[in-house]
Amino acid sequence: MTGIGEKLHAHVAALYPLCRSITGEGLRATLRDIGGRIPLRLTEVPSGTRVLDWEVPDEWTLRAAYVATADGRRVIDAARHNLHIVQYSESVDRTVTRAELEAHLHSLPDQPALIPYRTSYYVRQWGFCLAHRERQALTDETYRVRVDTTLAPGSLTYGECVLPGEEAGEVLISAHCCHPSLANDNLAAIAVAVELAQVLAARPRRRFTWRFLFAPGTIGAICWLAANRDAPSRVRHGLVLTCLGDSADPSYKQSRRGDAPIDRYATHVLGNRRILPFSPTGYDERQFCSPGFDLPMGNLMRSPGGTFPEYHTSADNPDFVRPAALADSLDTLLRIVDLIEHDTMWRNTMPYGEPQLGRRGLYDGEVDRLAMLWVLNLSDGRHSLLDIAERSGRPFAAIVAAAHALHDTGLLVTACASAA
Ligand code: ZN
Repeated sequence: MTGIGEKLHAHVAALYPLCRSITGEGLRATLRDIGGRIPLRLTEVPSGTRVLDWEVPDEWTLRAAYVATADGRRVIDAARHNLHIVQYSESVDRTVTRAELEAHLHSLPDQPALIPYRTSYYVRQWGFCLAHRERQALTDETYRVRVDTTLAPGSLTYGECVLPGEEAGEVLISAHCCHPSLANDNLAAIAVAVELAQVLAARPRRRFTWRFLFAPGTIGAICWLAANRDAPSRVRHGLVLTCLGDSADPSYKQSRRGDAPIDRYATHVLGNRRILPFSPTGYDERQFCSPGFDLPMGNLMRSPGGTFPEYHTSADNPDFVRPAALADSLDTLLRIVDLIEHDTMWRNTMPYGEPQLGRRGLYDGEVDRLAMLWVLNLSDGRHSLLDIAERSGRPFAAIVAAAHALHDTGLLVTACASAA
C-alpha cells in the first residue's frame, strides 16, 4: 500500500478544477476521467424524464460568469474559482445598482476569507458567492453583471462500474459526483471508490457482483432507483461513500434497518464508538433507505457532512484532504469488503469428536490452530465466520484462513452444499 495515499490524493487534485454540477460537461468530464481508470457504463437520462416523484431538470452549461466595475475590472469571476457562481444560475447581462447586486450575493460573515458553495437547481435565478471581506470591498454605485449560461433540455449523466461475482446478489457502492471544486465532499470518496473498484477488478474471483455508482447527489440517485425498481431484490449490502479524506477517524452511519449485515460489518471494523444511528438526512442514503426501497446501505465517512468548518466552502480544497486519511479510508473499506466477501456459513463434515489435524498436515502448519478449532466447533450451519470470529476473539482474517485450510482437506463444506 506504499504511496496509495499520494495516488488517491493526486486523483482528488486532478478532478478538483472541473466545474461539476448535477448535469453538464463538468459532470461528463469527471465520468470520463473515472471511465479511464475503471470500466464505466454511462447512462443519459433526458431532461423532463419523470423519475419517482421528481423530474430530471434542464441541463446547465456555464460559459462565463463575472461581476465587473464600470471600467471593466472583474471583481468576481467564475474563471478564478468554480464556487463563485451559484450553480444553475440563469443568464443575465446588464448593469445593476450595488443594492440589486447585493441581493444576489452569498458570503459567510463568520468565515470572511472563504467562498461558500450555493446551488439553485429548481428555482430560476442568478447569484454569486464570494469571500465576505471581498464583498465588503464592493463600494461602487453600479456594477456590470454578466452570466453566460444555457439552461435547456439535455440530459443527466451517471456512470456504473459492474464487476460480476459468483453468487446471486449485488453490493452497491455509491459516491455523489455533482459538487464542483470541493475536495473532501466528495472527490475523496470518488477517488477511494475508484481505487476499490480497481482492487476488486484485479481479483480472480468475487463472491458478489460489485456495482459502483457515480451519480449526481439526490436527483442522480433517484434516477438510478427509478431505473432499478428491483434493487431491493438484488442489493445484499451497500455503502454510500462521503467525505473520506479529512483527518477525523472514520465513522459509519447505520442503514435504516439498523440491523442489516452491513451495519454489523461496519461495527466489527470500526467499533461501537464510531457508529452513528440512521436519520433521514445527510447524503444519498436518504434515497436508498427511503421506505419503499429500504436498501441495506449505510454511509461510510470520516467527518459527517456539515460538521466541519471547511464544509461547502473554498476551504474544502485538496490541501484539506490528507493522503494518510485517504489511505486509511481505503483500508477501512477493504476490511469491510473482506467481511462482505468472506462472511459465509460452513459445516464441519466430521463433527463427532475432534478430527485429527496432524494426519492432515494442519497441526503444525501455518494456520492458526486455535482458529481452526473454533471453526470446526462452530461450523454447524448456524454460525457464520464472523460469528466465530466474534465468539473466539480471533481476527476475522485468521478465521477465514482456517476455514479455507479446513475446506481444502474436506473437513468443511459450505453450509448450503451440505444441505443440498
Ligand atoms: Zn455536499
